[in-house]
Amino acid sequence: MRVKHPYIIPFIGLKLGTHTFEFELGDAFFAEFEYSEITNADFQVEVTLVKKSTMMEVTMDLNGSMQWPCDRCGETIEIAVTGTDHWVIKHGDHTESEEDEIWVFGPQEFQIDIRQRLFELAHLSLPARRTHDEGDCNPVVMSKMSELETEDDSDAKWIALKNMKLENPSDQLEDIEDWEEDDE
Ligand SMILES: [Zn+2]
Repeated sequence: MRVKHPYIIPFIGLKLGTHTFEFELGDAFFAEFEYSEITNADFQVEVTLVKKSTMMEVTMDLNGSMQWPCDRCGETIEIAVTGTDHWVIKHGDHTESEEDEIWVFGPQEFQIDIRQRLFELAHLSLPARRTHDEGDCNPVVMSKMSELETEDDSDAKWIALKNMKLENPSDQLEDIEDWEEDDE
């Protein structure tokens, strides 16, 4: 049976001690969030729950890969993603906000909803540099890019021209036209 939100850990029936759970995060998981940066992902998460009489410790280890357009050339590459999250859940008189390193659960709680935490862990685990290794980018795209960079240089000339104060505006126009011809 397919459960819509299976990203919960029911702890109430568990014995004291260590328990592990496996979760898969793919596109269906991230599509349910409004602001997800992640597509074409295949992540596995192992969640370790250590249940003690007065508290619980939760550790999540994420491993997987994601298809991503290289930030330099745009060609799809596979990016390895790993990350870890850890927090403590204490038992209290009432449930407090579930945001920090310590959660407080009131007596009515019976399960841990890790969905939001998984989403955040996945995004925090994305590497900042998402490009091919140096020299592995698509050569056609890279040579086109260097052409565009040359054109950017002529933009700089235009800006310099605009800032020039010539006494006769028609002289300025002629100068610009000459410059354009030089570029050809
Ligand atoms: Zn590239």
